[in-house]
Amino acid sequence: MPTLKTEFACSLCEKQTGKQVQILATEGRLICPENSNHRWTDTADFYASNPKLVFKVGPAKFPSPEGQTTITLKIPQRIKDALDGRYATGLESVVANVLLQLVDGDVMVVGETDKNRLFEQLGQNFTNSSELVGVVWAKMCEVDEAKAEAQAATEDLKAYESRSPGRIVVDLGDEYEPAKERAKNSEPPMPLKMFIEEKLRMALKENWF
Ligand SMILES: [Zn+2]
Repeated sequence: MPTLKTEFACSLCEKQTGKQVQILATEGRLICPENSNHRWTDTADFYASNPKLVFKVGPAKFPSPEGQTTITLKIPQRIKDALDGRYATGLESVVANVLLQLVDGDVMVVGETDKNRLFEQLGQNFTNSSELVGVVWAKMCEVDEAKAEAQAATEDLKAYESRSPGRIVVDLGDEYEPAKERAKNSEPPMPLKMFIEEKLRMALKENWF
């Protein structure tokens, strides 16, 4: 059983020699390292001896887990207070995570203002960089799709005005929905545009009309 230092001074030593001796706690007893007769097995008896709180005992220190080490950081008190306020528990692991990120290649810290601007611009919130990448990726896909649509529309318009060789615009009229269904059920399923193009080319090649 370990011996723990207490914050009390031995009242008997103080009376007898005037010396302030730090009381130790071990195996359910309170002992005085100066005099083995100064010992208490009952807390009430100990308090009855009127011991004074003289010493300061910090939180118990435990050795770091294997392969890990401790660093000491000096930061302004207001930063420490703010961090304690935000991460009441687990501040140490939050800081450790940030430090891990720092050694993992180039790192960019996005401040609160820019983060909020991104939330606003992207129309979506994220809580970490992986989520941000996901949100941006989805947006890029949307942009690519919109670009392709715009491009096709431009080409179709040109074709409509007979300005695009090899390209025509076909109004399927009442056949539009059935054609879409057939394209979807074809093997392999195809977008309607590709399906119609393929069928038309085949029909023309085979002189169906
Ligand atoms: Zn003593």
